[in-house]
Amino acid sequence: MKLVLFFLSFILLSGAPAGSLINPPDAPTVIVDVGHGGTDRGARGHNPYCEEKKLCLQTARLVRQYLDQLGYHVVMTRNTDNFISLPKRVEIATQARANIFVSIHFNSSRSTQAHGIEVFFCDSKDNKTRATASRKLADSIMGRLIRRTSAKSRGVKRGNFYVIRETSMPAVLVEGGFISNTNERNLLKSRDYQEKIARGVADGVDQYFKARWKKAKKS
Ligand SMILES: [Zn+2]
Repeated sequence: MKLVLFFLSFILLSGAPAGSLINPPDAPTVIVDVGHGGTDRGARGHNPYCEEKKLCLQTARLVRQYLDQLGYHVVMTRNTDNFISLPKRVEIATQARANIFVSIHFNSSRSTQAHGIEVFFCDSKDNKTRATASRKLADSIMGRLIRRTSAKSRGVKRGNFYVIRETSMPAVLVEGGFISNTNERNLLKSRDYQEKIARGVADGVDQYFKARWKKAKKS
């Protein structure tokens, strides 16, 4: 009996991380595209001062950490404060043969009242399969983001941003909150809230793949 327990605990301890369905060789590759960088600061807010490029990097690093823990293979388009052109970001995704592309950004508006989360996907007419998958990924990420952050959902929207238009795999762009809104800016700067956003994105990605595998198993 003792021996059985020993082997059982060995199997349990040496297995994949809890909750993960994937084995490393089959792990999908997720591109975490980190918005802006270097001379391109993105949106900025004052009192407290805040730059979009910095929030993108801080949050994206957490997204990578959580996706790593779930067993995914993650490639970031930048991991330092450097400028990466939009075509280069698409090239990184193509070369990595990425399964999906998730771009991390934060929003800004003339109206200081505007707040909440938006997730964009490209409704490419010439590739309906990609458009449908992108929409599913966007819905999944939005659902999990709202669950984690309790922020306002401003909806899943069609967008024509370069990185989600020119990539060839399912792609979404997350606008994780408004730098132009004082309350939201304070939240976005906190590590605690960044963790909630990052967990939401990672959960959404995980849910997207698990739904696909379930469907593939049935058919
Ligand atoms: Zn941006």
